[in-house]
Amino acid sequence: MTPATFRRIVRERDGRCQGVDLLPDIACWGIPEVNHLKNRSQCTAAEKVNPHNGVLLCTAHHAWVTGHSLKARALGLHLEGWEEVPEWLA
Ligand SMILES: [Zn+2]
Repeated sequence: MTPATFRRIVRERDGRCQGVDLLPDIACWGIPEVNHLKNRSQCTAAEKVNPHNGVLLCTAHHAWVTGHSLKARALGLHLEGWEEVPEWLA
């Protein structure tokens, strides 16, 4: 899968910033970008373009996730480096 296809699939699936409902106390910036649940530097090549590893977040919610990895993991917004991303079935 190409990075462009990965981003398109995640955008179509999520539709809007996924932090809106999960983290209502954080003001959403409303312009979401495709982010990775698992830090890119810890991903295999396949995981970087696996839609199960993608999530649509605005800059504000992404910053919160980055600073609160344990809480974000509990909300399904983050994967630890040792966790495997589920297989993508096209
Ligand atoms: Zn947001």
